Order: sequence, then C-alpha cells, then structure tokens
Amino acid sequence: MVLAELGGSISRAIQQMSNATIIDEKALNDCLNEITRALLQSDVQFKLVRDMQTNIKKIVNLDDLAAGHNKRKIIQQAIFNELCKMLDPGKPSFTLKKGKTSVVMFVGLQGSGKTTTCTKYAYYHQKKGWKPALVCADTFRAGAFDQLKQNATKAKIPFYGSYMESDPVKISVEGVERFKKENCDLIIVDTSGRHKQEVALFEEMRQKPDLVIFVMDSSIGQAAFDQAQAFKQSVAVGAVIVTKMDGHAKGGGALSAVAATKSPVIFIGTGEHMDEFEVFDVKPFVSRLLG
Ligand code: GDP
Repeated sequence: MVLAELGGSISRAIQQMSNATIIDEKALNDCLNEITRALLQSDVQFKLVRDMQTNIKKIVNLDDLAAGHNKRKIIQQAIFNELCKMLDPGKPSFTLKKGKTSVVMFVGLQGSGKTTTCTKYAYYHQKKGWKPALVCADTFRAGAFDQLKQNATKAKIPFYGSYMESDPVKISVEGVERFKKENCDLIIVDTSGRHKQEVALFEEMRQKPDLVIFVMDSSIGQAAFDQAQAFKQSVAVGAVIVTKMDGHAKGGGALSAVAATKSPVIFIGTGEHMDEFEVFDVKPFVSRLLG
C-alpha cells in the first residue's frame, strides 16, 4: 500500500466509525482493526502496530467517556498522536553549527540512494550559506567516485576521492584534513554500505564523525526494521533520511527505521534531482497523511 493510500485508509476507518449510531467497543475495534490492516500492508513492523493499538485502547476508555464527549474527536486525536509517536524518537537530531567544522558520515545499503542523498544534503546546506564538501570513501564499488564527482561538479561543491587508493580510512582522513584547511564547515563522507568498512572508518578516523546518517530506501518494505537495526549496531546512527518517497513509496519503512535506530527522520528524498529533497517534520507529515 502506498503512502497516500495508507492515509486514505486510516481516514476512512475513522469516518466509518464516526458514522456508527453509537461509538461503542465494537465500532472502536472495527476502526482499529482497519487501521492495523492498513499499517501492516504499508510494511510497518507488526510489533509497532500492535503497541499502537494497545496504546489507543488504553487512552480511549469508552466507559469513562461521558455521553456528551465528542468520542470521534478524542479517538481521532489519539490515532494522530500515536502515529506521531511512532515517527518521533523523542530526541532531536544532533544540530550542526554553521562556521564550525562538522563531519557527517552517510551509511546505508548500496542502491539505497546514499551517493545521491549526500549531494542533495550538501546542496541543501550550500543554499543556506554553509560551505560543504564531499568525500568519497566508497572504495568498494567501481564508479562510486565518478558518480560523486559528477554530482558534486554539477552542484559546484568541492569533492575528494581517489581512483587508486583502496583504503577508505586513508581517503577519509585526507579528505577531512584538506577540507578543514579550506574552512569547509560541513564535510560529508560517503561510505560503501558495508558494515565492516564503516566500523573501521568510524573507529580509525582521527576526527570522529559528528553525525552518522542512515540512508534508507522507502520501498524496502518489512526488511526496513532489521536493516536499520543492523546499521545501528555497527555505527552510532544519529539520524535517518528516507529516499524514493516519490513513486510507489510505502511509508511504513520510515516508521520502522525510526523505531529501530531511535533516531529521527530529518529529510526525505522525493526524486532523482538535486533539489528533490524535503525537510521532514513529524506533525505536518502525519496531518498530510491523514488528509
Ligand atoms: P547508492 O548506491 O546508495 O549510493 O545509491 P545511488 O545514489 O547511486 O542511487 C541509486 C538510484 O536511486 C539512482 O538511480 C538514483 O538516481 C536513485 N535515487 C536516489 N534517491 C532517489 C529518490 O529520492 N527518488 C528517486 N525516484 N530515485 C532516487
């Protein structure tokens, strides 16, 4: 189920409940079952969905709601809050400071959109007055450096990498040193998407990354939770970017990635182009989802 359909299904379930002559236990259960089905079809992890259902039932105690209460509104609010809670790890992402060098490392599986997202992230900050630079520490995939170089050139962002060097740590250290000297305040390191390499990178870099961003393809479905958790176990993921939210994206993966990494989604990718990139805010996202 794609994201727009998910929102539609949830809204419909709430509407159906509202149309019932009386909102009793059965009407509420029918509504929650419908929402559960929609979330599972959107690849939200089963445990998250079950917890959500339990929480809503705890909050909405029908016996306690006097006849005069607007039950529909209370239930709708509870559903809204629970969806927000799923997407909000309860702590903000590390905030970078303009003018002070920060090193940001991107991790994620090959094909997730990591290299594209590195450039989008750099470009976004460049437009806001930062001085970003890109370092290609992906020595595993042939063509990775060329791709980064091409993207960086298009966006007029300085880049560093090597066709010859096979040690990603060496490249990262050299790249970070060079761009520090050039007073870049946002040094972005693109990695290969292989856990072992990333652990070494994180441990051996002289200047530890200030932030590790996990990039996840929104269309990977139920695998999202495990994948995100695997990365979280090897490096200290501090934020998530969900890519390919255009097209046939199932939003559920995003919800699961937040739960697995306990880190906020900070941006979403909505296309292949440099500026198809949006800041992610939980409440507007859920409002839009529910129409
Ligand atoms: P990497 O292997 O993780 O570095 O992935 P790439 O950056 O090479 O991206 C893989 C493919 O996904 C490329 O064809 C990108 O153009 C495409 N891609 C990346 N982000 C998005 C996005 O937000 N939307 C769409 N539609 N395509 C994307």
